[in-house]
Amino acid sequence: MLKLQNISKQFDGKAVLDHINLEIKTGEIVSLLGPSGSGKTTLLHIILGLTGINHGKIIFNDTDLSNVPMKDRGFNIVFQDYALFPHLNAYENIVYGLRNRKGSVSKEELQEYIDFLELTPHLKKRISELSGGQKQRVSIARTLVMKPKILLLDEPLSALDGVIKESIKERIKSIAREFKLTTIIVTHDPEEALTMSDKILIINQGNISQFGSPQEIINQPANDFVKEFILKQL
Ligand code: ATP
Repeated sequence: MLKLQNISKQFDGKAVLDHINLEIKTGEIVSLLGPSGSGKTTLLHIILGLTGINHGKIIFNDTDLSNVPMKDRGFNIVFQDYALFPHLNAYENIVYGLRNRKGSVSKEELQEYIDFLELTPHLKKRISELSGGQKQRVSIARTLVMKPKILLLDEPLSALDGVIKESIKERIKSIAREFKLTTIIVTHDPEEALTMSDKILIINQGNISQFGSPQEIINQPANDFVKEFILKQL
């Protein structure tokens, strides 16, 4: 269980997140949804440990992580632009993730992730030879071999379209189920959030507008902002 208690963050004296409270159960897929500038990425980076907080606590399985540095939290992120190394091939990019993992990974385990993401035919290819969806899968594999306690994804579908988008969406859902991995996804797209998540946190100007299941949000929107933001874009 991940608990955010009263998290506040200011940049240059301006409040970007204001007393955020949130509980995420192990294995849940939670989307952080909101318009541009609402504070979604800041919240994701706070959970990761990349961005510090001005106030509040981050508790993971009863341990207070608020002052624990990013490298010791055990959470890993798939960045929006994939952040792959162009001079390495797909396989080398994936095993690069092992540098950040304490202990060793068996060959079988590594192969399991490669098979799961259907990357075997692409392992020797350079990053420039891969499609957007293949790059995304390499980036996810590199993160999974680090055995994250929580998987964080920043706009994982924004650079993809059509069939590829649907296939990565399904893949992310099955990773969370198969590996019972708590997964937190930033998106600005209500349709993505509604179709991928167990729960959605809707953020507006640094405040929580609603936290609930897709059904709750559609059937019982908490306020006019949620109603308009969700309905306008469906
Ligand atoms: P987008 O969908 O456009 O990425 P977002 O909801 O992820 O937006 P954030 O990136 O979290 O929003 O930004 C929230 C606010 O904090 C914005 O007003 C942004 O300008 C500001 N902000 C974010 N990072 C910094 C920073 N390092 N220094 C100063 N201000 C920042």
